[in-house]
Amino acid sequence: MDRFGQDMTSSLFGNPHSASASSQFSTARIEDIRLRVLQFFNADPVDFDLVFVANATAGIKLVADALRACPGGFDYVYHQASHTSLVGVREEARNSRCLDSQQVGEWLEERSPLSDDGEASPVLFAYPAQSNMDGRRFPLSWAARLRCRGPTKAYTLLDAAALVCSSPLDLSDVDAAPDFTVLSFYKIFGFPDLGALIVRRGAEDVFSPRRYFGGGTVDMVVCLKEQWHAPKSQFLHERLEHGTLPVHSIVALDAALDVYRQLFGSMQDVAAHTSFLSRRLYRGLKSLRHGNGQAVCLLYSPDPEATDSSLGSGPVIAFNIRNSVGAWVSLAEVEKLATLKCFHVRTGGVCNPGGIAAALGLEPWEMMQNFSSGFRCGAENDIMAGKPTGVIRASLGAMSTVSDVDSFVGFVAEFYRDISPAPQASGAATQSHPPSQLHIHSISIFPIKSCARFDVPPGTDWEVKPEGLAWDREWCLVHAGTGQVLSQKRHPKMALVRPSLDLEQGQLRVTYAGEVSPQLPREISIPLSKNPSLFHPPAARARSSRVCGDEIQAQTYSCANTNHFFSAVLGVPCLLARFPAGGQGKSMRHSKAQLQKHQLPHQPAERNALHMPGSFPAAPPSPPDSGSERCPIPRRILLSNESPILAITLPSLDALNDEIRRASPGGSGSEVSSGVFRANIVMGPAPSSNTTALTPYAEDAWSGVKIGRHGWEFDMLGACRRCHMVCINQETAAKSEEPFVTLSKTRRFDGKVFFGVHMGVGGGGGGGGAGGSRPGGAVVTVRVGDGVVPVWRE
Ligand SMILES: *Cc1c(COP(=O)(O)O)cnc(C)c1O
Repeated sequence: MDRFGQDMTSSLFGNPHSASASSQFSTARIEDIRLRVLQFFNADPVDFDLVFVANATAGIKLVADALRACPGGFDYVYHQASHTSLVGVREEARNSRCLDSQQVGEWLEERSPLSDDGEASPVLFAYPAQSNMDGRRFPLSWAARLRCRGPTKAYTLLDAAALVCSSPLDLSDVDAAPDFTVLSFYKIFGFPDLGALIVRRGAEDVFSPRRYFGGGTVDMVVCLKEQWHAPKSQFLHERLEHGTLPVHSIVALDAALDVYRQLFGSMQDVAAHTSFLSRRLYRGLKSLRHGNGQAVCLLYSPDPEATDSSLGSGPVIAFNIRNSVGAWVSLAEVEKLATLKCFHVRTGGVCNPGGIAAALGLEPWEMMQNFSSGFRCGAENDIMAGKPTGVIRASLGAMSTVSDVDSFVGFVAEFYRDISPAPQASGAATQSHPPSQLHIHSISIFPIKSCARFDVPPGTDWEVKPEGLAWDREWCLVHAGTGQVLSQKRHPKMALVRPSLDLEQGQLRVTYAGEVSPQLPREISIPLSKNPSLFHPPAARARSSRVCGDEIQAQTYSCANTNHFFSAVLGVPCLLARFPAGGQGKSMRHSKAQLQKHQLPHQPAERNALHMPGSFPAAPPSPPDSGSERCPIPRRILLSNESPILAITLPSLDALNDEIRRASPGGSGSEVSSGVFRANIVMGPAPSSNTTALTPYAEDAWSGVKIGRHGWEFDMLGACRRCHMVCINQETAAKSEEPFVTLSKTRRFDGKVFFGVHMGVGGGGGGGGAGGSRPGGAVVTVRVGDGVVPVWRE
């Protein structure tokens, strides 16, 4: 960046295509850099032209557009390991086929065209030089074999985007070279965001039938009365680079080439370094064993040490993790921990549909079934019907080091290797139920979703509605552009937005505990009333938002000062919105909490799976809607993530903090306060009770509780699944590793991490809209100090 900065501050780059000195200067620099890039790939400018494009995908699209313009269209053959951007070309083709390596070999031998309909259209054959999924490489000799195959005209499109990140690409033999090669420079250098299409001059004719022309690509255009134009004719790139080139990005490429060479040497050096590291990573992951001897990782990438291929493979290791009884670990969970530990890995389908399907043995019907069961790219439920739907991909580059590799292998070992030969009992549900003497330690509500809590003052009776505690998560902040509900996971500063309820004055008051500019008020107030004049008129500004995957219709406030306050303190353009109880349609949400397997009485066959960290049941998981069988009347909620009320217990928190202390050398103070769990109700030992009688995690085995002198009944709705948002300190908004790291080791069941329990007003009170009222008109309330009597599950 410094080197680029020098260029920018010492030169004036004009828009090319004009005669001014600054414009001519830009043009000259661009042509020098074009040549330099061709030389970087050993491509002789006599035989090749280079077209600057936005990225590899844009290069692919230029080729596809050209072939589509051919009079009879084109036929398309693509390799199974193709990136999504190559797969999509098939939609433009007359016929298309997807082949694996063996089928490509056979197809290159046979001489028949793709279709038998007589007219031979040109064939485009596309494949990646290296798979972006698992680093597998494919022969560059395929281009030459296709060229001498006949009888139809055939062209090869080589996707070199993954290969060139860490390997040289040598186009010196023009007869063997692919006709079209695409790549993205940001994948090699990090910057600039630019790509290239390298065209073998012998194949330039493909671009002739294209009809569109843009500024800079023509020598003359006649518009009035007659329609005529003369395309530029000397260079292909002149005809394909429509409009103004990204001049400054191209200039930055010059700096990138220089600095990269200074830092890392040649691409041969980078290739040697990265393949050394990838052998080490492969060996490290491959050798991890559970205590019972089972492998921790299933690797999909080819063994870099296998000598049967002269191609080698890229420094990319794709794998999945299994627990000691062979059940898959959820990618979403791995990603949460990797994020905390600052590893940048990619998980999921990694834009390589054919490669993933082949590696995971997913049949088209399974993928479509997963799709209709709600699976989407990037979703949390990534283990469907007992099979993983994606991979974990660790990629190495010029800047990676031995210690990066070793610490990543250490990370997988620390969190996913079960060294005990026999399963250990966890602190979960016990069979004997000691009498517990619990009370409500504190009650909190979170008026604005994801912002700070408001503690219900001791001595106050607080109403409990079917949707949860009164005023809990009734407001939220939505992004002014997308309508997406803001969450603390993305915007940790939300922890410092502190609402308090002034029921006497009928105001919600909000302060910000972080630094604010002196122009902002210290506090703002929002009337609790639902006066329609406070909101944007529903018809004019109806916007739907998304919260936890649900599409909702919230009412946004129209007060500019209010919205400005939130936008300014968070540094995100946002609007305050309200989602009051009693809505219909998209103004209504339902609880998703359900009992988890680890909360149910143990069945012997499942015992192992239940107790092991990271485990998944051997049997296929139940379909996603099975929760509704257990909870026939869906409970309404407002903007809480999953359920009306979230509760935690102090004995469980103490047990967790004990674990955290035990894990941290010297017992340094990384214990966490109850606040990080953002619970509504914290239960603890009653002052008079014998605290030793309270078992940690006993709440997992409760079917309900009775609270207070009226004995209001509440149903337990299931354990609460956690993510790394519990690592945000609610006082300072600072992020740390705990408690998620320790929870992942001690409270992981079915591969998911749990702490706390969901609950709601009992006795069917969640169904209708009867409010918290009971026969006789009584309103369900809770207050700090109320006794809590657990009801144990049978
Ligand atoms: C990244 C990648 C692409 C797409 O590159 P963009 O820069 O996103 O256009 C295509 N193919 C492979 C093999 C890749 O690795």
